[in-house]
Order: sequence, then C-alpha cells, then structure tokens
Amino acid sequence: MRVGVFGVAGRMGRALVEEARLAGHVVVGGTMNPATARERPADVAILDIGDLVPHVDAVLDFTHAGTVQNHAAAFAKGGPAWILGTTGLGAADEAPVERAAGHVAVLRAAHFGFGINLLAGIARRLGELLAAAEFDVDIVETHHRQKVDAPSGSALVLGMAIAEGRGVDPATAFDFGADRRHRARAADTIGFASLRSGQIVGEHEIVFTSQDEQIRLSHRVFDRRTFAKGAVKAAEKMVGRPPGLYSIDEVLGLDRPAAKRR
Ligand code: NAD
Repeated sequence: MRVGVFGVAGRMGRALVEEARLAGHVVVGGTMNPATARERPADVAILDIGDLVPHVDAVLDFTHAGTVQNHAAAFAKGGPAWILGTTGLGAADEAPVERAAGHVAVLRAAHFGFGINLLAGIARRLGELLAAAEFDVDIVETHHRQKVDAPSGSALVLGMAIAEGRGVDPATAFDFGADRRHRARAADTIGFASLRSGQIVGEHEIVFTSQDEQIRLSHRVFDRRTFAKGAVKAAEKMVGRPPGLYSIDEVLGLDRPAAKRR
C-alpha cells in the first residue's frame, strides 16, 4: 500500500510513518504546517496536498480541526481512502466530510484503539440499563498538556454512546461544566471533566453514581502506537472500498465475536 501522512511532523504523524513502514507499506510523503517549529522528519518527502493525494492508496490524517475542510476538498474528485483521526471538529466540518465520502472511502474515528471502542459498546449498554433518574454519569479524561481540544474526541464518543443508550439528545444532555462554578449539577445530564497534564497519552474514566453505589470503568493508553496501528489497519481495510463513511467497529472486529475477529 502507498500511504500519505498529513501532519507528518506531529506526534501522531511520526508514529504513523513508523507503523506504516513496520507493516510493510511505502510512505510516499507527508504534508506539514510550514508554520510549525517542530522539526521535519528527515526521511519523509514533504509535499503539497495536490502532489501527494493522487499518488497514494490511503491518506492518514491526524492534524488539527482547522484543516478538515481544506483536506476534505482534496478528495472531491475521488482518490485514495481518507483515514481521518483529527478530533475537535465543529458542526461546519460535518458536511465537507460527508461530501468527501461521496467520492472516496472515509473512515473517521475519534479513537483508533481497541479498548475505547470496546468501552463505548459497554457504555451504550450501561446507558440503557442505568436510568438517569437514579444514576448520574460523568466522563473524566486526562491528556498531555499540548492537546488543543477538550473534552477529547474519545470522551465524546463515550458520551454519545451513553446518550444513545439512554435515548437522550447529546445537544441538551452533555454538560461541559464551563459555568458550573455557580450552579448545582443539572438533572439527567452527562458530565465531562478534562485534565491536561504532563505527557499523558490518554486516560478515560466513566463514572456512574447513584445514592448507594458507584460503578467505574476506566481505560488508559500507554503508547500512541495503539492509535497508529489502528489507523494503518483501517487504511488496509479501506483500500479498494467504494466511497462511503465506514465504521471503526468493523475495522477492529468489534462487530463480531472474538473467535471470528481478524
Ligand atoms: P500534534 O500537535 O503533535 O500534531 C499535529 C500536527 O499537524 C502538527 O505537526 C501540526 O503542525 C500539523 N498541522 C497543522 N495544520 C496542518 C496543515 N494545514 N497541514 C499539515 N499539517 C498540519 O498533535 P497529535 O498529538 O499528533 O494529534 C493530532 C490530532 O490527532 C489531534 O486532533 C488529536 O486529538 C488527534 N488524535 C486522534 C487519535 C485517534 O485515535 N483518532 C489519537 C491521537 C490523537
């Protein structure tokens, strides 16, 4: 597989180059933000989007939410699969991503690792089982101090799963706590709290609390390679697929039992 890496100088960009090569793929080149001070990788060609996209089978894109609309336009005439891992996207980014999916295979996921996506399925079920009238629920996440979006995309994935299980609208149920300094917790909400510290790769905890008991589910990533491996696997599965929006659950085998997963 010939791969292009958008944002190749970033933390994820560098991990993606390594994982793609370890899996035997050719990294044709990458893009980078000319304004960044971070050193460009010596062994990857830095190309313009237009010179890279037509020459690869898949693009791995872990950059910044501000790039998404521009990146989506690069797939408007067809081309490689777009593996989109960037988080913090706004409402205005949804339509361009969907338009791109009319022309190429798009796999967009806020988390490419196995554990959080598995946890999302469990969270959905707990949302069904634990009534909001009885159980408050909160998602607490911690990431490295350089992260620019909060709450994390993975926390939002978990929150969406709980909202789906509870049959509530995230637009009204999500409580990001920005104004909570002078008010009590509202009923029937899904609370979020974000910490930004040191170089923590990613920690998430879902906490369901009733009057009498508490259930905690937690997940910790030790190495961002887990995301890079998932993204490379996603690219392998998307190459040759017809245009459309695909699901990370299928890539990770979470849509089938362990014995049939691979
Ligand atoms: P980072 O800041 O280390 O890297 C981002 C890189 O993108 C930087 O080098 C930046 O200069 C570059 N960039 C910005 N604008 C660009 C442009 N126009 N063209 C090319 N490059 C550009 O951040 P990171 O930790 O590597 O994370 C990158 C993104 O991936 C974030 O949105 C993060 O939340 C997300 N992320 C997703 C997953 C997942 O599994 N989906 C996992 C980890 C990180």
